[in-house]
Amino acid sequence: MRMRRATRQVQVGGIAIGGGAPITIQSMTSTPTREIDSTVAQIREFAASGCDLVRVAVPTRSDTEALGEILKQAPVPIIADVHFHYERALEAIEAGVHKIRLNPGNIADRAQVDRVIAACRERGIPIRVGVNEGSIVERVDKAVRATEQAMLTENRQGLADLMVRKLESFLRIFEENDFAEVVLSAKCIDAVLAIEVNRAIAERFDYPLHLGVTHAGPPETGRIRSIAALSALLAEGIGDTVRISYAAESAEEVADAKELLCSLGLRQRDEPELIACPTCGRIEIDLVKLVGEVRRKLVGINTPIKVAVMGCVVNGPGEAEGADVAVCAGKGRGVIYVQGQQVRTVGEADMLDALYEESVRLADRVERGEAQLGSASVTSPPPQTNMR
Ligand code: SF4
Repeated sequence: MRMRRATRQVQVGGIAIGGGAPITIQSMTSTPTREIDSTVAQIREFAASGCDLVRVAVPTRSDTEALGEILKQAPVPIIADVHFHYERALEAIEAGVHKIRLNPGNIADRAQVDRVIAACRERGIPIRVGVNEGSIVERVDKAVRATEQAMLTENRQGLADLMVRKLESFLRIFEENDFAEVVLSAKCIDAVLAIEVNRAIAERFDYPLHLGVTHAGPPETGRIRSIAALSALLAEGIGDTVRISYAAESAEEVADAKELLCSLGLRQRDEPELIACPTCGRIEIDLVKLVGEVRRKLVGINTPIKVAVMGCVVNGPGEAEGADVAVCAGKGRGVIYVQGQQVRTVGEADMLDALYEESVRLADRVERGEAQLGSASVTSPPPQTNMR
């Protein structure tokens, strides 16, 4: 992992982005914003799963009119996502949102963008200046459109160059307004291009960067596409706030973003980490089912204990190395380990409950300061007991 890239810092409702602040997770509601109850419910769901900031779309006046009430009830800062209508941005700012997302390319004239910038300055709120592959080409000026389309067909690099060029031209507006409370983003569908574009932006500008892959698809494929791009960038120290997006329930996006940051050591876990053997020909129980049950059962424990579910007593203890609590299952029975000690052997029907009980007991001891996580992991040699 490289050092995090040095950037400016902006404040979004008391949460810092950039300038060495912890990397934040964002998501976006899928409810019509004007439907206050369902929108607030989704914002709360995101926040409960670890989302730091939530964006809401405000395509109509009735959406911005709902913001006042939503802001009163939201447990995290809210970002208004504005396209085409600068009035929506002004209304959202007036309502008290904590950040605006704007694509100056789809706001009709410069004076309108200037007004939004002035209103944000007055309220002390930042603006994300974003370009997106899907809307990068000029729509009004035919000559510009032809040039830009030619750039895209020339080679793969053409899109990356065009995105950087557009951002540069948008940023000129902000710089002429002497406004530096800016977060940048450039979203592509292709993971390799997303890496290239964001590297180029990181080299050229010192504003914080919002990372994401656009139109990534359903989780089954979008997950790989998003993680491929984001993990490469984050490992290079690039990226200050992330959003993973799928064509699916948004809570999955937050969970995956959180797991990504935790896996890269960029966020501290606040809940159990589950590791499990990949299964092989030695397996004698339905381990996949057990792993799913353990995963669901551990929800609600708010201590980052490492729990391992292993499929045999031959390699299980060795492969569970580093775990605080583990079960090494054999035919009909499982051996439970807690911080390196074999504590009990239970029948298959009791494995789930026994593992859960030991996890809760250890979590309680950790919370009371009587045990330390990772201090004694499962390294015991395989037990000599005949599991059959
Ligand atoms: S723990 Fe046992 S069953 Fe699981 S992959 Fe390793 S050797 Fe195979």
